[in-house]
Amino acid sequence: MSIDLSRIDIGGRTVALTMAGGRIAAITPTAGPATAVAMPLPVDPHLHLDKTFTIRRCPTIKPGLFGAIEAIRADAEGWTAADVYERAARGVAEARSHGLTALRTHVDWVQPAAPVAWNALADLATDWTGRMTIQRAVLVPLDLLGDPEEGPKIARQVADGGGVLGCFVYCNDDLAAKVERVFRLAGQYGMMLDFHVDEGLSADACGFDTIVAMTAKYAMAGRVLCGHACSLSVRPAEDAARAMDAAARAGVMLTVLPTTNLHLQDMQPGRSPRLRGLAPMHELRAAGVTVVLGADNVADPFYPRGCYDPVETLRLACLAGHLEPAEWVRAISTDAARAMGLPEPELAVGAAADLLLIAGADWGEALRAPHTERRIIRAGQNQTIAKDAA
Ligand SMILES: [Zn+2]
Repeated sequence: MSIDLSRIDIGGRTVALTMAGGRIAAITPTAGPATAVAMPLPVDPHLHLDKTFTIRRCPTIKPGLFGAIEAIRADAEGWTAADVYERAARGVAEARSHGLTALRTHVDWVQPAAPVAWNALADLATDWTGRMTIQRAVLVPLDLLGDPEEGPKIARQVADGGGVLGCFVYCNDDLAAKVERVFRLAGQYGMMLDFHVDEGLSADACGFDTIVAMTAKYAMAGRVLCGHACSLSVRPAEDAARAMDAAARAGVMLTVLPTTNLHLQDMQPGRSPRLRGLAPMHELRAAGVTVVLGADNVADPFYPRGCYDPVETLRLACLAGHLEPAEWVRAISTDAARAMGLPEPELAVGAAADLLLIAGADWGEALRAPHTERRIIRAGQNQTIAKDAA
């Protein structure tokens, strides 16, 4: 590896970094332009390991989100524990090869009984202990999780498995009452919440606002993560601004998922997309909302391409959202870890020497092109992809 630690960029300063005993021993300011940028090893707060690598089995997919849901439900009828485990393990190995230390995978749960993927991914999480922190969040239709009879039974199983409670919320009937039942269940078992919410372009969608109001009511600041909120991109500016301010006050965080939104939103056969569906990241952060980034779907009907590489997710988000790379690295590292309820990694003297380096004088240069040289260091040791991806 030609990237060395004598002149690296940490937070906009050029420094020399020394390591000892698997920890950062010293960070010394030094002169001249950096040869590489450094960040803590990344985490991804929003993946779907149960669905991954199914795209080749789904030859016909109707356009848009609900076409993808229909396709995955048909494929899921044939899922076995071995099939889910094998595909998900391939995803985790790829994630590890890109430096990931932790991830949260959603798990579809569409019937009252636990799906085969729930236990298969528990086994996977156990098998990767020490190499990857794997959190499981259930993705249940709101109508099912918010059902007074079925919701409590599902919540108990999720709590028993140490999971995160979550559901799909979009323009449901009786939405507020159902969402409130979900919050009560989370409170009863002390679970964090993670929602797929307003993943569409209806300006009337109010799921996000309802979740924000419930977060405030049940004092769950810092324990509620929303994903998507695409509708914020099409709501009147003042209306969206009110929702974002309320989210900041309530302590609701938001994951933006650029690949899946760019792929599915405003999708109509033979017509170029005009509306891209990304929640307004600048405005959210300016309002005080923690905004994080996730890879979401990889090689499934929701996004047929993709990879388990947060740096690529950041690169795409910078293009799609006009973001300044250096200001948004935390969306795939420190902020993302906090959103998952994990300790925030940092590059500081005494901290674990776990870092990702990318060649370049600054983040703009580091993200200019894909396949720029990288170096991954775990506990002071270089990672070799062949060894770790096994
Ligand atoms: Zn998702």
